[in-house]
Amino acid sequence: MRDAEKTKRKRVLSGMRPTGRLHIGHYFGALSNWLKMQNARLPDGSPEYESFHFVADWHALTTHYADSSQVATNTLEVATDWLAVGLDPRTHDNVTLFIQSAVPEHAELHLLLSMITPLSWLERVPTYKEQIENLREKDLGTYGFLGYPLLQSADIVMYGEPGQQLLVPVGEDQAPHIEMTREIVRRFNAAFFDPDNLTSDQITKLRSSYDISEHSGISQELSVIERLRRAWRTAPLDYRTSTFANAGVPVRKTLQEPDVILTETPRVPGTDGRRMAKSYGNAIWLSDTPEEIRKKAHNMMTDPQRVRRTDPGRPEVCPVFAYHNLFPENKSVEDCARIERVNRECRTAEIGCVDCKKLMADALVKWIEPVQARRREYEANPQRVWEILEDGSKRAKGVAEQTMARVRNAVFNWEGAGRKASGERKVVGD
Ligand code: SF4
Repeated sequence: MRDAEKTKRKRVLSGMRPTGRLHIGHYFGALSNWLKMQNARLPDGSPEYESFHFVADWHALTTHYADSSQVATNTLEVATDWLAVGLDPRTHDNVTLFIQSAVPEHAELHLLLSMITPLSWLERVPTYKEQIENLREKDLGTYGFLGYPLLQSADIVMYGEPGQQLLVPVGEDQAPHIEMTREIVRRFNAAFFDPDNLTSDQITKLRSSYDISEHSGISQELSVIERLRRAWRTAPLDYRTSTFANAGVPVRKTLQEPDVILTETPRVPGTDGRRMAKSYGNAIWLSDTPEEIRKKAHNMMTDPQRVRRTDPGRPEVCPVFAYHNLFPENKSVEDCARIERVNRECRTAEIGCVDCKKLMADALVKWIEPVQARRREYEANPQRVWEILEDGSKRAKGVAEQTMARVRNAVFNWEGAGRKASGERKVVGD
């Protein structure tokens, strides 16, 4: 890819835990947006996004470490559904599908980020206490569970490259996680910024906002620049971060701060009207047969006030009507007419729920048919799914290696040490 193309493209990172087969809630919650990004084009016809989607197998262990027996099978199921809905790295070189643990650099970056992340930042993540409460049957008093938002941060920033915007598609409830990632990146960049690299202009700016006299242990005999450098190295990280910001001095961005794309996620109720979830047993799976879909549609909950056939209904509270609006996504004139008719005739009790559900099931089965045709192909050739994941993992690893080369050098300055060592050898040789 040419550099100019690369900087125009926005890098996108998004993952999913290997929970097994996916349902239509997953489709509208994430996959439909991934597909839009796969297919989005800039005015010149080139892809607008470069997307990395990963199966988060390590994340599965943060809550299910006691039984990892289904992770590999579920990984295949998840990837098969991704391909079934139309994600296709073979025809779209801007899409990469990979497995998190096949890129061990994620673990290394997680470790390095853990060195500078205050425990309190992890403890205050809103979902931490909530999940411990919800999953009381599991012992979640582990570092792996406390540290999972940090692993998420490592997953994200691994794919940030200088000069390229890094985006994470999330719903509003996930935005605080990304904000924490941004804070961690700022802290990391300030922690591992080498003050020897300060330019004289930056030093002038810093001197006006950085009070060297606070650091009494530093000899006054030294030059101002040297005192500033020494003070910098001993200053707390919060102070360093804010000092750079206040002085308007950009630190070297070893890691990129991600931005959020707030995604539109329509509410997808389960067949019983509650949120669709595997644990509620109320899901319609992307792999359900047409017969299973029709049966589930027939048994769906409707407006609870419509008890008799002659009672007028309220489509706005009925999960069946929500599905009428969801399927298909791109509506024809006939689809719009069907929805308008159901909306009208439900309110006047002209249409009964049985007929209404049949109409909805027809639309859903028609929409899902190409998804299932692709799924059947991949199910018959699971090796192809593994190959796509293997190829994607190699590609992701290539990007991760570049990031980690920058990171390792920022943390330990290996390049400087190497230069110094080779210079010293030269002197010895002379
Ligand atoms: S007619 Fe349709 S929209 Fe109205 S209550 Fe029955 S199932 Fe729901």
